Amino acid sequence: MSELDDRLLWIHGKYVEPATGDYFETINPASGEVICKVALAGSEDVERALESARQGQSEWGALGSAERGRILVRTANLLREHSDELARLESLDGGKPLAETPEADVGSAADCLEYFGGQAASLQGEYQAVPGGFFYTRPEPLGICAGIGAWNYPLQIAAWKAAPALAAGNAMVFKPAELTPLSALRLAELFKEAGLPDGVFNVVQGFAETGKSLTTHPAVAKVSLTGEVGTGKIVMKAAADSLKSVTLELGGKSPLIVFDDAHLDNAVGAAMLGNFYTQGQICTNSTRVFVHEKIKDAFVEKLVARTERLKLGDPLDPSTDVGPMISADHMQSVLNYLEKGKEEGGKVLVGGGRANVPGHEKGNFVQPTIFDGLSDDMTIVREEIFGPVLSLLSFADEEEVLKRANNTEFGLAGGVFTRDIQRAHRVAAAIEAGIVWINAYNLTPVEMPFGGFKQSGIGKENSRRAFEHYAKFKTVYVAEGDVDAPY
Ligand code: NDP
Repeated sequence: MSELDDRLLWIHGKYVEPATGDYFETINPASGEVICKVALAGSEDVERALESARQGQSEWGALGSAERGRILVRTANLLREHSDELARLESLDGGKPLAETPEADVGSAADCLEYFGGQAASLQGEYQAVPGGFFYTRPEPLGICAGIGAWNYPLQIAAWKAAPALAAGNAMVFKPAELTPLSALRLAELFKEAGLPDGVFNVVQGFAETGKSLTTHPAVAKVSLTGEVGTGKIVMKAAADSLKSVTLELGGKSPLIVFDDAHLDNAVGAAMLGNFYTQGQICTNSTRVFVHEKIKDAFVEKLVARTERLKLGDPLDPSTDVGPMISADHMQSVLNYLEKGKEEGGKVLVGGGRANVPGHEKGNFVQPTIFDGLSDDMTIVREEIFGPVLSLLSFADEEEVLKRANNTEFGLAGGVFTRDIQRAHRVAAAIEAGIVWINAYNLTPVEMPFGGFKQSGIGKENSRRAFEHYAKFKTVYVAEGDVDAPY
């Protein structure tokens, strides 16, 4: 028997049956059991959602921006009031430990709604006097935006996309990843409770086809995707036909560079957070850890000791550090990378295979793994694995390590640990990535722009910069004198 009731589509402020009559199952990754059936949106449902969004947006866009902001802040408060329930739902559907989800998922989503709620009334244009008159710019909503989410931070991604879009007066049709469809629906319910007009946030669950119906639809003005690089390219091509704007948050293979003057315990802690948090299923993860050769032995000793203490287990047990991979397929893909790493000569220091968690024999658990003895050209050092797999590399000097760190098509993030202030900023400037942390890793406060360079993405989420991706600025020229026509 399923753990929860079946879930329908959320269109125009209520649950509706899918026109297709089709459903898919969402699975608990810790047990392999079905959580519930979920309605599958076909193109007819997407049409319905877009028509509803058109109506919703015209009402929403006409509301005062301060009132829009108040509704977003109320939603943030509701998220916090329901934090326990939402965190549990996220842990159940995504396998993320309950030790993470209240803060990293529910808290982050609430922070984002609160931030953009506060910012909504401050979205403003500019004024400037020019010869013959003046001009001003008007920020206007784009219209209907499509949000397409990945499965690793389902609620956070839904909020990171919806909050700036809605604050700027747009409507959003959101397609969650098919592996984690539940929390976006709960967010939609809480939006309604907070007073959001019907149609402003619709949720259409489904697979790539549902996503395609959105990215190819002429009524959609903008697509914001979080997903793999390959999906990003497909989405951008689809969007090009009707010249939709895109924000793409894609994959990475980020470097963490630890110099010989680093605070060792902090650097080890950051390397672990950047590889094992959320079972390593984080786009910005520091999966290539470059450690200065002078401190490598000391670093490795501490890293191995702390990694061996990580507790794998039921994500719903608050003492669990590491839960299961999102799906059996994804677990297999991570295990294949582990084998590849061994075949190509990597030396496993910790982990290296599937984990058996008593009572969860059907769960998709992989041991937190540390590889040493690697070279930059090995598969596991080049490709995004999206699992708890840390690759250790060593270096001798700054110029060399920067060259190696930047030798990748990805450019999402990077980190540097050093107590030398000049080197810290020099290295931060030289790393070819959209986000660099100095003496920290993977912290993403909502005030801070978030987004990748190179093939890791286009555009920014969070911060006031996100407004630039959800508003169009119309220029209005005003003449102060007569028209000077020569004919
Ligand atoms: P995918 O690219 O497989 O899927 C992302 C979303 O796009 C899903 O909702 C998916 O649907 C949908 N989709 C797939 N194909 C299409 C298509 N042709 N048209 C429209 N939509 C489509 O990514 P994952 O869900 O596997 O997430 C993991 C990836 O996300 C990793 O590469 C990771 O690095 C990246 N990521 C990036 C982040 C960032 O901010 N930069 C943050 C988090 C993750 P379906 O669910 O059916 O597959």
